[in-house]
Amino acid sequence: MRGVAYHTASQASSSQVGLRPVWLQQSPLLRPTIFGSTRTLLTSTQRPRACRALKQVRAQSSSNGAQHNGAHEYDFDLFTIGAGSGGVRAARWAASNYGVKAAVCEMPFARKSSDVAGGAGGTCVLRGCVPKKLMVYGGEFAQAFKDSVGFGWDAEVPGITWQRLMENKNKELDRLNGVYRMLLDGAGVEYIEGRGKLVDAHTVEVGGKKYTAKNILIAVGGRATKLPIPGAEHAIISDDILDLPELPKKLAIVGGGYIALEFAGIYNNFGSETHVVYRQPLPLRGFDEEVRQFVAEQYEQHGLNLHPEASPTEIQKGADGKLTLISESKKHGKIVLEGLDHVLLATGRKPNTKNLGCEEAGVELDEKSGAVKVNEFSQTSVPSIYAVGDVTDRMNLTPVALMEGMAFAKHVFGDDAEAKPDYDFIPSAVFSSPPIANVGLSEEQAVEKYKNVDVFTSSYKPMKNTLSGNEGRGFMKILVASDTDTVVGVHLIGPETAEIIQGFAVAVKMGVSKKMMDTVVGVHPSSAEELVTMRTPSRQIRDKSLVPA
Ligand SMILES: Cc1cc2nc3c(=O)[nH]c(=O)nc-3n(C[C@H](O)[C@H](O)[C@H](O)COP(=O)(O)OP(=O)(O)OC[C@H]3O[C@@H](n4cnc5c(N)ncnc54)[C@H](O)[C@@H]3O)c2cc1C
Repeated sequence: MRGVAYHTASQASSSQVGLRPVWLQQSPLLRPTIFGSTRTLLTSTQRPRACRALKQVRAQSSSNGAQHNGAHEYDFDLFTIGAGSGGVRAARWAASNYGVKAAVCEMPFARKSSDVAGGAGGTCVLRGCVPKKLMVYGGEFAQAFKDSVGFGWDAEVPGITWQRLMENKNKELDRLNGVYRMLLDGAGVEYIEGRGKLVDAHTVEVGGKKYTAKNILIAVGGRATKLPIPGAEHAIISDDILDLPELPKKLAIVGGGYIALEFAGIYNNFGSETHVVYRQPLPLRGFDEEVRQFVAEQYEQHGLNLHPEASPTEIQKGADGKLTLISESKKHGKIVLEGLDHVLLATGRKPNTKNLGCEEAGVELDEKSGAVKVNEFSQTSVPSIYAVGDVTDRMNLTPVALMEGMAFAKHVFGDDAEAKPDYDFIPSAVFSSPPIANVGLSEEQAVEKYKNVDVFTSSYKPMKNTLSGNEGRGFMKILVASDTDTVVGVHLIGPETAEIIQGFAVAVKMGVSKKMMDTVVGVHPSSAEELVTMRTPSRQIRDKSLVPA
């Protein structure tokens, strides 16, 4: 984890934990219900009742909305900037479980994010995980139609009414945006529409109005950036590719990360001629090398046009509106992709800290990335201000933002002063075609960390691909620190692997041994059974060197 230690846990806890707003201390009605003798969590049936009661007490306790907090008067106990995954989780958790008076500010809803537009739900719900996964599902039907022929169906791949997909997807996103607003309302969190800006350690300005809070949480996420090359203005970013008016016939995607490869899979499945241009010899830098190698072959087998070791230099727009992407490759020379409907730049994202008032409030930013610097408790250089999620650029995933938001609420308002995010063994998936899922170390990391490692691998043909004639193959890999027989990494490629990895992540996080895994009986017939039947290592590393198995 990146971050700096601004103070110790005990300092943080004594300054932040244990102070309860006066209006709560004054409430005989609420004290036994919410906190009991110790601070107990409310059940799901208790919470809505408690929230309604809280609203009444808040209204009674202060006619102008200001709350007394020791020597200070604040409008809120917690003011969160940004109603994305991390911000909503933190505010809801604090309000529902600890009776905190909380507010969240968020910019007005729009399909595409900007300096003035956002919407409750944030990137994941409106412009990330959710719409992407809906489109992954949509694209996967193409393969299902093809595969069905071998199973007896007289099917042809039908045409697609792209606009219907977009309309239905947008309806679902509108619904989810409303759900997020309701979730906040249900928890008694005040929703303030507008762009928030820090003024000082306890003040946020939204639409010209100032709000004070004992604690402020920065949860503003990040936005896609564009490569600084000539013609970049003709390119689109991930917000745009999720909402195209027409299905492109031909497109190029620049970038070798998971977002690039997921969109490549989606559009390739929908039938667009899809090119992926990236700098590295293999896509998905940071993933296990063998996984990268295997999946690159599978991507090509699925019909993706991969252009490795290439750096885009220019995008040109012709009179017919079509784009040309020019790239330079040391190995392959000049690569010119013509007749493109779109060029997607999926090369990076930047934390939303521009014009956020961090400098004015004294919140330190990382010089290079612009991310908010935090310590292990998500506390910034200003003790009353915390930050969670992508804006801190620790591990930019939704469940991580949720974990950070919840840990923050527990640490600052709950009864666990030591609560902090735990970054060990976080599973993740790439929803490309085929999908990839993993938990723990890559082989390279395992060999770096441990002297002796056993590597179990298996390449297999999914059963569904037998009658269909589909050439796609799956891959599984288990890494074992052999001195202790502990499983330290699991890597999967193939259908349903995102679903399979979650359960194995529990086992790996609990420190499962290989011997224990070998005692588990497989579910037959399934792909997942492969994971409990790998008995012989494919290779062994002893004293950091490869020895014959
Ligand atoms: C295309 C794509 C696909 C992804 N797929 C996955 C996936 O499959 N799985 C996964 O785990 N993660 C995925 N992610 C990452 C995931 O979306 C983020 O990690 C997650 O949304 C981070 O949550 P957050 O709360 O930090 O920020 P966000 O969700 O970005 O929320 C920040 C909110 O703050 C608002 N805001 C910004 N500035 C201000 C301001 N000044 N005032 C008020 N409001 C402000 C924004 O409008 C936004 O709503 C994906 C991301 C992208 C772009």
